[in-house]
Amino acid sequence: MTETLQRPKVDRIRSPRHLLADVAARATDYLANVPSRGVGPTQSAVDALSALDEPLPEGATPGPEIIRLLDELGSPATVASTSGRYFGFVTGGSLPASLAANWLVGAWDQNCFLSVQSPIAAALEAVVLRWLLEIFGLPASCGAGFVTGATMANFTCLAAARGALLRRAGWNVEERGLFGAPELKVIVGGEAHVSVLKALAMLGLGRSRVSVVPADDQGRMRPDCLPELDDRSIICLQGGNVNTGAFDPAAEICSHAREANAWAHVDGAFGMWAAAAPGRSHLFRPFVEADSWATDCHKWLNVPYDSGLAFVREGTYLSDAMTISAGYLQTGATREPGRFTPEASRRARGVEIWAALKFLGRSGLAEMIEKHCRLAKRFADELNLAGYEVLNDVVLNQVLVSFGDDDLNQRVITAIQQDGTCWCGGTQWHGRSAMRVSVSCWATTEDDVDRSIKAMIRIAKQQVNACGPNRDGARTSSA
Ligand SMILES: *Cc1c(COP(=O)(O)O)cnc(C)c1O
Repeated sequence: MTETLQRPKVDRIRSPRHLLADVAARATDYLANVPSRGVGPTQSAVDALSALDEPLPEGATPGPEIIRLLDELGSPATVASTSGRYFGFVTGGSLPASLAANWLVGAWDQNCFLSVQSPIAAALEAVVLRWLLEIFGLPASCGAGFVTGATMANFTCLAAARGALLRRAGWNVEERGLFGAPELKVIVGGEAHVSVLKALAMLGLGRSRVSVVPADDQGRMRPDCLPELDDRSIICLQGGNVNTGAFDPAAEICSHAREANAWAHVDGAFGMWAAAAPGRSHLFRPFVEADSWATDCHKWLNVPYDSGLAFVREGTYLSDAMTISAGYLQTGATREPGRFTPEASRRARGVEIWAALKFLGRSGLAEMIEKHCRLAKRFADELNLAGYEVLNDVVLNQVLVSFGDDDLNQRVITAIQQDGTCWCGGTQWHGRSAMRVSVSCWATTEDDVDRSIKAMIRIAKQQVNACGPNRDGARTSSA
């Protein structure tokens, strides 16, 4: 009798319904508030985080209280990177359909190492893989791993490259390691992304033990400076320089590599998505002749973190490098997700990629990429017109702008971040400081861009005045 009476109460405590409805409402409010808040957090919001710095709690805290704390303290202390006026790094915001898929996947709590653990995750990885190979124009022989990001994708691809070249030389690196192995030569461009060097370091191939091909003013490898390649060479190309968006001369490099039986690897973290837009696909097309490709989905495809992909032309080289086996690991006849990644247990990030592609469709993806490239050009043209120097050829979604000397650039970037209208980061480009504008969020509109350009120009003028002849600050309010 008492038991029956108590059951509803127990159920209410155990049922996540209220908690999840509450968090959905709070998350929805957060997103609704993004357009009207500053893109960066206020200093007081960041300072308030100290309230979380408490000793390990002795007892339990109710779920709703945890979410309340997170929302009240955490939400204001985010950088609103889902904003249409966030132009930092190259990181788009999550498409709502993909975010919603992420929530459901979270509820599923699937481990997608083996298909027997999650038929849905394995099935959608296979579907997504087929779709992506079509988008990128890659061969059906490709194997692919769903990893955390382009850093791990570079690592995964280069592990396959290392294994393949050494296996051809009669050495099984997965079994025997690198000590005593035939030497491999690794070639990178002068503007290779640091994650490629990190991947080489983790693979025992060495960060500094590389031949560096000098880069031109856009960061592209100079084809006249290519070294001799042979069947023990891995050459790392870049499709989309993180600063300029420039693409290495892939046609020359890939045919050179092909003739020499070398391995050509592509870091296409965001640039690879140029393939999806008819007006930009020519930039990526020559790269399809390579042997492996690393890209991100959490950048230009606008899915939640973390999500990257490693593609290898001959899928067996990838599975040779990544497969593990043990008696209790039951595998089926279908594609086993865990045979292609460094991780064993992992979340079902393929579902969010599926949701994004299903939501956009081929045409929606093409339009999004085109729009971002067009808006990047608008930034460049307007800032140039206002008298500021654009340091790169704007071929994709990246703009490098300089407002003056290094000190001024730094102050303008800081002031833009504090102003909150938009958010941009800084960089060093060929010995000069610059501000980076990366247009890669689905939410960005022409109006967002125009408001941001106005803010940039207003702030740049203020900063020029602030450090002009009257440095006493008397003129700081005149602009
Ligand atoms: C962002 C980026 C990476 C690293 O990607 P993560 O997802 O942060 O690991 C590698 N290469 C290029 C060109 C990038 O833009």
